[in-house]
Amino acid sequence: MKIIIQKFGGTSVSTEERRNQVVAKVKKAIKDGYSPVVVVSAIGRSGDPYATDTLLSLIDDNYKKGNLQGTDMLMCCGEIISTVIMSNALINEGINAIPLTGGQAGIITDDKFTEANVTYVNTHNIRELIKKGIVPVVAGFQGITKEGYFTTLGRGGSDTSACILGAYLKAGGIEIYTDVDGMMTADPRIVEKANLIQNISYQEVFQLANQGAKVIHPKAVNFAKESNIPIYIKNTMKDSEGTLINNKAFSSNDKHITGITHLNDRVQIIVKLSENNNGNYRSLLDKIAQKNISLDLINIFPTEQIFTIDSKEKTILEGLLKELNIKYKVKDDCCKIAIVGIGMMGVPGIMAKIINTLRKENIEILQTADSNMTIWILIEKKNLEKALNLLHEVFMLNE
Ligand code: ADP
Ligand code: MG
Repeated sequence: MKIIIQKFGGTSVSTEERRNQVVAKVKKAIKDGYSPVVVVSAIGRSGDPYATDTLLSLIDDNYKKGNLQGTDMLMCCGEIISTVIMSNALINEGINAIPLTGGQAGIITDDKFTEANVTYVNTHNIRELIKKGIVPVVAGFQGITKEGYFTTLGRGGSDTSACILGAYLKAGGIEIYTDVDGMMTADPRIVEKANLIQNISYQEVFQLANQGAKVIHPKAVNFAKESNIPIYIKNTMKDSEGTLINNKAFSSNDKHITGITHLNDRVQIIVKLSENNNGNYRSLLDKIAQKNISLDLINIFPTEQIFTIDSKEKTILEGLLKELNIKYKVKDDCCKIAIVGIGMMGVPGIMAKIINTLRKENIEILQTADSNMTIWILIEKKNLEKALNLLHEVFMLNE
């Protein structure tokens, strides 16, 4: 029994024409000798009738905050609707299919409603269906607690469902179908010359996905990596190869940089020692951690501390700084660019090249950080498009 997971995102199941393409992909997998397990997201994107955001608009913000279990139950509806519609489309084309909720598919989670973690997958139901030649169509993004309550797995959760099912079913591959040709060298909506990455390592995809390339969810990548199952990112509307994600090793033909991505809505905070000569300055980072505010880029110097946060956390952070009587400067509307590539390991001069490229065009660099395969730079949002395109060109990703 050669199992393949085929996950279809929101846009892939949104129209009849697209659902016909989904059916064609499932048919092809069967023809190639696989037993497909289909995972679906809710139909469409924000504004569409059954999309997650639309469902959430039906309840009050107060209810959402105080009743996570109820909120999860509502959010699960979108994917459940998709499973039935997709099963209908498959049956119309002579493929026997049965819709399953996450719970019916055996996906058991803890009770962290809205951000639940999968603790176990009981593959019994799915295996029985496969044995009978039936295609299970599983609702993505959801599971069930051991007490039987519906849970959701956080944004991008359908990718997680697909990869975790792949791991427990020991699938031969996980196909993530979406509305682009695969993982690109940059977000194709901003960098016109973005190219398809044909083969990339799990680690690099994790970095790119974690830093904004939302074509696959970073958590999902890790599940596939642990089980060493290849992931293919493909376009639902085309018959192309897409991107293969596996344990690819770096080869000397590869470029130093594999891809560039970005995160919006960063806010930079600068706290100077000279303006804050009191005990609170030294314990500031601890106090921030106690408030559960996550810091992004952090640079500590003898005379100042500079860090970035997500704009959503700004109000809480400013409250804390006032409480501690700390003077600070804020820079709103920043973006963080991440330049990722295994090929940069041990290669000198990459940071200098980035800085020179941007300085030449008068793009101010507000902050930087680096790890073994990623360099981050913070810039003003107004410079984002220009900076991404320049860096894309200078690291030969246009070719
Ligand atoms: P789905 O609904 O199929 O899960 P997503 O919206 O989650 O689709 O992911 C696909 C989108 O990710 C694309 O439409 C594209 O605009 C965006 N994207 C951002 N960065 C990248 C990148 N580097 N490569 C490919 N797509 C990207
Ligand atoms: Mg997605």
